[in-house]
Amino acid sequence: MINPINNFSLNYSQLLQPQNRIKTEAKQDLTNPITRPKLPQPTTMMALLYNNISFTGHREDLVRSIGHVSCPCCGTKMLTNNDMEKITKDLSKEDTAEHYINTLHPYEEYMHKTEKDVFHKFEQWGKENPKGTLSNFLAENRESSMKACKAKQSETFAKINSIASSISPQAGEKFANLTKVYSNTPINNEEDMKTVRKNILSDIKTSKSIINSEEKFKELKTLADNLPTSKNNTDAFIVRYAGKSSEKIGTRLLKLSVGTIEHVKPQADGGRDRIENYLLECGECNHTRGDVSLKDWVEEHPEMKENTQKYFDEVIEKINNNELDKGLDNYPNAVKGALKEQSKGTLTYDTSALKPKENENTKNSENTEKTDKPEGSKKPQTHKPHKPHHHSHRLNLAA
Ligand SMILES: [Zn+2]
Repeated sequence: MINPINNFSLNYSQLLQPQNRIKTEAKQDLTNPITRPKLPQPTTMMALLYNNISFTGHREDLVRSIGHVSCPCCGTKMLTNNDMEKITKDLSKEDTAEHYINTLHPYEEYMHKTEKDVFHKFEQWGKENPKGTLSNFLAENRESSMKACKAKQSETFAKINSIASSISPQAGEKFANLTKVYSNTPINNEEDMKTVRKNILSDIKTSKSIINSEEKFKELKTLADNLPTSKNNTDAFIVRYAGKSSEKIGTRLLKLSVGTIEHVKPQADGGRDRIENYLLECGECNHTRGDVSLKDWVEEHPEMKENTQKYFDEVIEKINNNELDKGLDNYPNAVKGALKEQSKGTLTYDTSALKPKENENTKNSENTEKTDKPEGSKKPQTHKPHKPHHHSHRLNLAA
């Protein structure tokens, strides 16, 4: 007679034998056509292999993978998220000025103007105070920086009043009253400075009809634009970040230089999530532009025309040198349409340096094209003097 308990034990132990675990194993058996999980379709699979993709499949990551090129908007060289992670990690190891200077120095060309200026002043200070910290440096300078910001504000108000009174007595009186109110507003921190700047900018815009001159309007606006903020003024930066940890200040010097995805046509206006609609733009420009239309933005930042060409020249150089994912082979041409449309024709650029590559449509001729292009046939470098720098810095970052 069979002991039911023994019988059960036998079955149970049998079940533990790999060859007997049919039901559970079958689900993961990739060779079984009935139970294997659904794999990508062959064409997708081939495209993935063909493109030698390490990239996870997200289009934004594809454009982010372009890496160290100049921001098309401000021209500052951009960092990657990986760089930023490395920098943060390195900074966290030691708080001394000496360590901070050594860590941040290789990334100097990636800093925006204000950040670079703060860093240079810190470098000078660090020579005298090698065991001091970045946090100490800002704290030591806060008071004098605050005074400098207030002086800059008074000086700007005087200029605004002078221009306004040259327009008409009415404009003169209006701005004299406004700047008097703002001068009496207590300024205790950078937020206060930003509020005054924002208010006077808004006053200038709403006074456009009494200013009655495009030229004077622009002069007033430029003056107000340059009122101190932590982005455009070293002293305001010091005021804003004094009291913060060295690590926070140190990463802030580079954080806004990380390349971010900018939708050329805003998503709110139906801009699509396609590489045809993407620019890699530094965090600062991306954040500052906000909802301003590209046409207005280019008008306010005429340097963008030159910087956009520089951006695409650098992207093209990387494509020509086979440094980028093949999914980006036609990227410089693909974005042309959106940029032209959104800037109302003011933002165009030349992509003639882009060497023809096989893409989805011409894949069949892949082999012949490849044998037609021996190594030696690569065009001699036609690039401007800044390019070799670009390479050396790329190597620095990889190290
Ligand atoms: Zn930028």
